[in-house]
Amino acid sequence: MTDRGKVYLVGAGPGDPGLITVKGLRCLAEADEVLYDGLVNPLLLLHTSATARRTCRTCTDVGRILKQEEINEQLIAAARAGRTVVRLKGGDPFIFGRGSEEAAALREEGVDYEIVSGVTAATAASAYAGISLTHRQHASAVAFVTGHEVPGKSEQMLDYSALASFPGTLVFYMGLHRLPDITRALIGAGKAESTSAAVISRGTLPAQKVVSAPLGEIAEKVAAAELHAPSLIVIGDCVSQRDHLQWFEQRPLFGKRIGITRPAAQAAPTVEAAVELGAQPILMPTIEITPPDNWDAVDDTLARLSEFDWLVFTSANGVRFFFSRLLQQVGDVRLLGHLKLATIGLATAEALGDYHLRSDIVPAQYRAEALAEELKPHVSGKRVLWARADRGRDVLPQQLAAAGADLCETTVYCNRDVPSWPPDVTSTLQSGDIDWICLSSPSIARNVVRLLDGEATCSARIASISPVTTAAAQSAGLQVDAEATEYTWPGLLNAIVRFEAG
Ligand code: SAH
Repeated sequence: MTDRGKVYLVGAGPGDPGLITVKGLRCLAEADEVLYDGLVNPLLLLHTSATARRTCRTCTDVGRILKQEEINEQLIAAARAGRTVVRLKGGDPFIFGRGSEEAAALREEGVDYEIVSGVTAATAASAYAGISLTHRQHASAVAFVTGHEVPGKSEQMLDYSALASFPGTLVFYMGLHRLPDITRALIGAGKAESTSAAVISRGTLPAQKVVSAPLGEIAEKVAAAELHAPSLIVIGDCVSQRDHLQWFEQRPLFGKRIGITRPAAQAAPTVEAAVELGAQPILMPTIEITPPDNWDAVDDTLARLSEFDWLVFTSANGVRFFFSRLLQQVGDVRLLGHLKLATIGLATAEALGDYHLRSDIVPAQYRAEALAEELKPHVSGKRVLWARADRGRDVLPQQLAAAGADLCETTVYCNRDVPSWPPDVTSTLQSGDIDWICLSSPSIARNVVRLLDGEATCSARIASISPVTTAAAQSAGLQVDAEATEYTWPGLLNAIVRFEAG
């Protein structure tokens, strides 16, 4: 590697954030700057800490559309400044994406680049619609065609009689608004009106919609269904497979828009799980987790670990902040060897498991009362250290003191309410486009109520992670529709699945 910058032209895949390549993810992790286009799923930005800029306006953006020359100039300037740049493009960068023009501009200026291929819309959207473009009984060839040209106009480069007699599947990109012209031109050039056809809108995304009909009727049906871009037109016998091969639209939470209230930095696993279930996660971070203002008190406690008998955690964040400081300051977990460990619930115990430690106590119920109940018989006359957040319930101190324990509290992280949600979240909420809001702690429940500002118009259903969170939501005036039986984020999503299944 030189110390010169470099541009990676990376394919982001067609929409499902899981359809980026391993190499693409690595580029995102290493990037200093990301320039992404309008088709890219913004959830992919969870994988980068680079400054990211969208080059194209979407309905929720207020930004300006960048001209191709401006994009090229920005790529060149950033690379010349020694930065690693990811140019993230929908699908595959070299399929109808002007990626090759960007590469040519970089080559001309002597800027290093690499192409990281992606999954193109034609193959992925049709697979997610249950269509194999090359099923051997239906098609022995497939053509990717631009639908951008106006059939019949002099500047047209496509030969519609060649396309009409093409012995295989035709896939038109960028053709939704020209669908009537395209079907008319094909039929006029001899393609049978009865040929199967489908239009796949927003393929691989929870908003995917598919309309299929014979070629002669498809334009009318698509107009009636009011499909949105981006859409692909697939023409050929292979479309009939959809009747028995469709799978994606049958996922348990298909199409549901689910508000994830976790801090953005911790949302990735939940986003993945929601996408797996077919849902569309909406990031609406409601609290923020930060380190303490200074570590003096924690360091002082870490230096006295030998004085304690028990170490108690009431959140996975508590575990992570405590251990990252311990490992940074002391670098040796043997300091904990003499301690008994207690955690409030499964997720907290699992976080401890990440450090190869097993919790001696995990109450069956995720509640401070249950934890106190289980600890009481063991702590009389003992010194108990509680690694906690700066706010939370005081059940534990009261009950452990009553049981004769000597409790020391150390604040290993802070939990703050965010003052507002991003503007696009607020407008999505106002337009009634969020189906569920997930509450994963009492403080999140309270801040959701505050941020909703008593908005009686909020039509979203509410899911809660535990009875304690449900109680906090209810006393703040929010009705809870589904409650997890396992008090974790996967448990929360399961509660929604159960509700939706009736
Ligand atoms: N480089 C991209 C294509 C860019 S051209 C790729 O390889 O996929 C933009 C066109 O791609 C859209 O007009 C639409 O026809 C198609 N497209 C992109 N994403 C799509 C999606 N999720 N569903 C359906 N079509 C999509």
